Amino acid sequence: MQGGQDSHGLWAASAPPAPMTPRLSASISADVAIIGAGYTGCSAALHLASAGVSPVVLEASEIGFGGAGRNVGLVNAGLWVMPDAVPAALGELRGERLLKQLGEAPALVFDLIARHDIACEAVRAGTLHCAAGGHGVRELAERARQWRRRGVAVELLEGREAARLTGSNAFPAVLLDPRAGTIQPLAYVRGLAAAAIRYGAQIHAQSPALACEDLGHGWRITTPHGSVTAPRVIVATDAYSWGPWAALCREQVPLPYFNLATAPLPPELRAVILPEGQGAWDTKSILSSFRLDAQGRLVFGSVGALRNGGTRVHAQWARRELARLFPELGRINFNHAWYGTIGMTRDALPRLHELDRNIISISGYNGRGIAPGTSFGRELARVALGEQSVDALALPRTPLRPAQLRTLKGVTYEAGALLAHFTAARF
Ligand SMILES: Cc1cc2nc3c(=O)[nH]c(=O)nc-3n(C[C@H](O)[C@H](O)[C@H](O)COP(=O)(O)OP(=O)(O)OC[C@H]3O[C@@H](n4cnc5c(N)ncnc54)[C@H](O)[C@@H]3O)c2cc1C
Repeated sequence: MQGGQDSHGLWAASAPPAPMTPRLSASISADVAIIGAGYTGCSAALHLASAGVSPVVLEASEIGFGGAGRNVGLVNAGLWVMPDAVPAALGELRGERLLKQLGEAPALVFDLIARHDIACEAVRAGTLHCAAGGHGVRELAERARQWRRRGVAVELLEGREAARLTGSNAFPAVLLDPRAGTIQPLAYVRGLAAAAIRYGAQIHAQSPALACEDLGHGWRITTPHGSVTAPRVIVATDAYSWGPWAALCREQVPLPYFNLATAPLPPELRAVILPEGQGAWDTKSILSSFRLDAQGRLVFGSVGALRNGGTRVHAQWARRELARLFPELGRINFNHAWYGTIGMTRDALPRLHELDRNIISISGYNGRGIAPGTSFGRELARVALGEQSVDALALPRTPLRPAQLRTLKGVTYEAGALLAHFTAARF
């Protein structure tokens, strides 16, 4: 079991190889330069390239190095916050448009997977939001009410049905969202990148954008061994942003989240734990998530970083918590461990920035980036293609503002989760 900052754990072990993406070693030009090869950048590249425009993607490390290669793989519909909170924050028109766009975003993900034949363990069986106690049941009932009012067929399932779908007696109710599903997240982003390359996009890994110079008619982005000149730039670096657009990262409070994966479960356990293949997470404030991969490995995650003693504490807690949720698991060993940084914005909504003339970014997905990143990548491509204006996007343009007390809040998240799991594992 590893788990260092560069580890992508199980996803690196089970994903098909990444496409060849040589480091940039020349001065080239492009119609659009894209910074970052996660979902947002690769989706933008695919939609641009398939429309006949030539994008160049610069990736500091490797495809999926950021959140895209580390997440749980829950292809959620909508955002973290309650549906009603979105129009309340953005206004009726824009808020409802954003909810509609993100509600349809899982369909876009599964459609791209089918259309481009992306081998990424895609399962479209929905997701389960699991109630932890009576407070959780009330929260889910309210969520269900707000979605149903918008015509979405989510189902609040209680008692025996909740136990059957999760395989655990710990949850009095679950909210089944049929729009959603699960994927192998690193395999998906590699597949998006491979599809973009097939349509003519260039992707250069190990090519960090170090500087961005205004040429008047466009921008020159410099990497250690080359440069790209382009009239338009899409910055898709989210919580892993560094270099010229590091401020995008400083706008978000870092929330560490880890995952641990068991060996493949025997068939008799696979038949009772998440028997219909949904991915699940709970309503606790220090939440947990659980899902199976295609081989039947149980992937269990929660808030916390696998450093500063965290590896031992979180793994101990996870063993105990899994034994509580699924007593039939018996002795639990983890074969893979990894973690990453989720970027949280003040109101849990993503941000659209016009960083300079023809330089745009969307970031701040608050742990909901698979479907939203794919969808906004497509929207940013449409802006670059001249098919829509920045103002037509479902997010308002906002100025970049550093998060207040960012470091302190980040440390509090990490230390708070460590303490909570340490305490829970002992008492
Ligand atoms: C542990 C964890 C669990 C999560 N679980 C889920 C989940 O289950 N469902 C869900 O929907 N979302 C989840 N998320 C959130 C999701 O992974 C992110 O929102 C998503 O990856 C954002 O996609 P992106 O393409 O915008 O950014 P990223 O995937 O983070 O990619 C940004 C890329 O930009 C590159 N980069 C940064 N700076 C530069 C530079 N100067 N030059 C070149 N390249 C640069 C980085 O190396 C990185 O590869 C989770 C995140 C984490 C960390």
